[in-house]
Amino acid sequence: MNTFSQTGLLPALVTAVDSLGYETMTPIQQASLPPILDGRDVIAQARTGSGKTAAFALGLLQKIDVESIRLQALVLCPTRELADQVSKAIRRFAVNIPNVKLLTLCGGMPLGPQLASLEHDPHIVVGTPGRVQEHLKRGSLHGGGIKVLVLDEADRMLDMGFEEAMDDIVKRIAKHHQTLLFSATYPDSIRAVSARMQQDPVSVSVEETHDETSIEQRFVEAEPPVKADVLSRILTHEKPEAVLVFVNMRKDTEAVAAELDRRGFSALALHGDLDQRDRDEVLVRFANRSCTVLVATDVAARGLDIADLPLVVSYDIAHDPDTHTHRVGRTGRAGATGLAILLASSRELNKLRAIEERVGTPLGRYPAKPAGDGRKVLNLAPMKTLVIDGGRKDKMRPGDILGALTGEAGLDGKDIGKIDVYATRAYVAIRRDLANKALERLRAGKIKGRNFRVRPLG
Ligand code: AMP
Repeated sequence: MNTFSQTGLLPALVTAVDSLGYETMTPIQQASLPPILDGRDVIAQARTGSGKTAAFALGLLQKIDVESIRLQALVLCPTRELADQVSKAIRRFAVNIPNVKLLTLCGGMPLGPQLASLEHDPHIVVGTPGRVQEHLKRGSLHGGGIKVLVLDEADRMLDMGFEEAMDDIVKRIAKHHQTLLFSATYPDSIRAVSARMQQDPVSVSVEETHDETSIEQRFVEAEPPVKADVLSRILTHEKPEAVLVFVNMRKDTEAVAAELDRRGFSALALHGDLDQRDRDEVLVRFANRSCTVLVATDVAARGLDIADLPLVVSYDIAHDPDTHTHRVGRTGRAGATGLAILLASSRELNKLRAIEERVGTPLGRYPAKPAGDGRKVLNLAPMKTLVIDGGRKDKMRPGDILGALTGEAGLDGKDIGKIDVYATRAYVAIRRDLANKALERLRAGKIKGRNFRVRPLG
């Protein structure tokens, strides 16, 4: 059985899946969707890219009774980014089911608007454990009608200290519910959560072919003083369109990004101290190709929806194999090939051995001095981002910005990249060599007949 229509899914869901162009089920869907639809508890080893979101989203949508104005499904995610991504996916699958109400409830967002939206219970809530727990405690959310509880990236939730909140949430919701647990790794702590929260779960684990076949893992021995050199040689040699560089300490994100910037790369740091707006800006620039190198800690990179990276570098070797597995999972998604390179000093070879044990084979060496012609070249990203101080609140739409740039400003559409419109700001990527021209023109002209402040980022 490998098509969605054979599983007994509601026609509305089959149509939605069809219109998304999914022809066959992914291995994780084939293995988990039937028991999910049977109402069984499921524990699945699955990571981003496996199609896990569709598996639980379809499962929970099948069970929603739209007529009943009660919370019926709760999805817990480790981060706001993942929660947003999951909410979007569920909405896409729910397009043919009228009046499904879904709410995303995450920490770090103001409580007031959330309370206002909770005047009537939604059918589905997707959120981070701390905030969901708070709403259940306050009584702004009612868990008594929950039929399905999903723990997405459960290992990450434990890493982030959400275990108590998760346990407390389970105490506050309907006693009889189905629990679907998805986790990229299966440490003992996850087994313990499953033992506490699940009843006779069906265990699903799918050999992910791209683990061995399309992600190439290499290591390079590098002592701390030469790490920046080694990294810039790797980047110059591989010329990745986008690369995620992992460091272990928050302070090193800035230091490594600054060093790369000095060497002519378009690099930015992503760490937990950034406020929401700075974090959004970093991610916008990475996604719209005006920054090629993102230097991040594991915590900061959690839940990021960054797919198909050609290269991931562990500037600092991961402290444990699970973390390493997560890092490597950022590359080679959806069948694309990827390269993961880790830097290890001579004192860290024991950690490398532990990783090799997990991978199952010794890692090949990356040539310490990859061949190159030795010339110093600039490695700037192809695009540059302009920020416009106007957004959805000004009824600004991507088309307005595109129109202003191609109309009055005389740019060609092909030189304009991704446009992201937020509540009060908008970001547009422009071919780097044309960014100044675009900036001048936008400043001189109008968007939607109004003057907005425009400035370059970075
Ligand atoms: P996920 O692992 O849930 O993050 O999904 C990874 C990506 O695969 C998403 O972009 C989905 O839209 C896509 N996807 C999920 N299931 C299928 C399928 N059966 N066929 C094709 N693409 C899929």
